[in-house]
Amino acid sequence: KLAAKLQEAIDRLRGRGRIGEEDLKSALREIRRALIDADVNVEVIRSFVEGVRERALGQKVLESFTPAEVVLATVYEALKEALGGEPRQPLLKERNLWFLVGLQGSGKTTTAAKLALHYKAKGRRPLLVAADTQRPAAREQLRLLGEKVGVPVLEVMDGESPASIRRRVEERARAEVRDLVLVDTAGRLQVDEPLMAELARLKAAMSPDEVLLVLDAMTGQEALAVARAFEEKVGVTGLVLTKLDGDARGGAALSARQVVGKPIYFAGVSERPEGLEPFYPDRLAGRILGMGDVATLAERVKAAGLEAEAPKAAKELTLEDFLRQMQQLKRLGSFSEILGMIPGAGKALPKGVEVDERAFRRLEAIVLSMTPEERKDPRILNGSRRKRIARGSGTTVQEINRFIKAFEETKALMRSLEKRRSRGLMGMFRR
Ligand code: GDP
Ligand code: MG
Repeated sequence: KLAAKLQEAIDRLRGRGRIGEEDLKSALREIRRALIDADVNVEVIRSFVEGVRERALGQKVLESFTPAEVVLATVYEALKEALGGEPRQPLLKERNLWFLVGLQGSGKTTTAAKLALHYKAKGRRPLLVAADTQRPAAREQLRLLGEKVGVPVLEVMDGESPASIRRRVEERARAEVRDLVLVDTAGRLQVDEPLMAELARLKAAMSPDEVLLVLDAMTGQEALAVARAFEEKVGVTGLVLTKLDGDARGGAALSARQVVGKPIYFAGVSERPEGLEPFYPDRLAGRILGMGDVATLAERVKAAGLEAEAPKAAKELTLEDFLRQMQQLKRLGSFSEILGMIPGAGKALPKGVEVDERAFRRLEAIVLSMTPEERKDPRILNGSRRKRIARGSGTTVQEINRFIKAFEETKALMRSLEKRRSRGLMGMFRR
């Protein structure tokens, strides 16, 4: 529904050479709405949309793209960048000490066990530390999870001092040759001063290499205040976003990332210890926009690069070129969707070439069943060759006849278009 609205807004942009103020306004209004729906913080939305406006305004619309595509690509790229760009992983040294911090229920303990399992599988020797000095139940939870993933757990004692905790952790890690110590710290239901002060003291005593802030993707707006408080009072080096398997759109990630400015390293995708994945900014960007097909925009840009190859003259066009160009189109998205976006494309397509994916796959099969000579010059396709190809491709001779006829018609059509523009089949489908 939102995707449709956004599509509508950007459809109005189509067919103009440059992106103007008015054009952008309606598109950005829909984008703002999408971000609000995804629970992104209002301040964050404001600055994000401002950035997109500046980038998109006056941007030249490349000949091979519609302005609509340019706006969408800009939004998507900006969102991906705001989420960190490429996936990143924490730096692993010879010996590592990491803290997991966050509110109660955010997923710290679960994530500690997940990380232990993840790195154990990579050949590391983790040690889990249950560092809640006040809640024995919290320590027991980690002990059970540690047993489950086969990683030892050191439990702090009630009211144990930071200095004592550090000493015991160091001794244990040395004795057992542990190279990745994961400290599950105490959480509260809300950010509170005593908690932050305790964390700050523990951090000062232990000097962790990483302080990973664990955030529940479902918390939405609140994530911002949490992230800000932990960053100010404790200091954060990276983020883990949990419960992305729920139906949260993930706006929390954008808010937290903007406020803390540190990478999001991992995503929690189930309750189980295996449910941890690297965080992919591009995937979440698509999810936040609520438009699955936005992710294909990057591919469209690549396809445009392919198109930049010098176009062949129509008379040299072979069935192989035909197939390749069909494949390019297919990669751009659903065939009929692409054609629906291009005014007049339905009419430009020769009769007999049906525009649906199943039909396309049959055409593909036909070409793949041809010898290279046949693809180069379909005129050599006599009756017996056609029968052989029909058998090989699981189609009929009639289909092949129709296809070859359509191909010859397309060539003829292209020859007549060539005088105006020689951009190959792709050009034919464009404005
Ligand atoms: P802590 O209080 O921060 O230590 O949070 P917990 O690790 O105890 O997690 C709180 C609840 O969230 C538990 O029921 C977990 O099983 C659940 N949980 C944690 N991470 C995920 C996740 O990525 N996906 C799902 N579905 N549940 C999670
Ligand atoms: Mg816990």
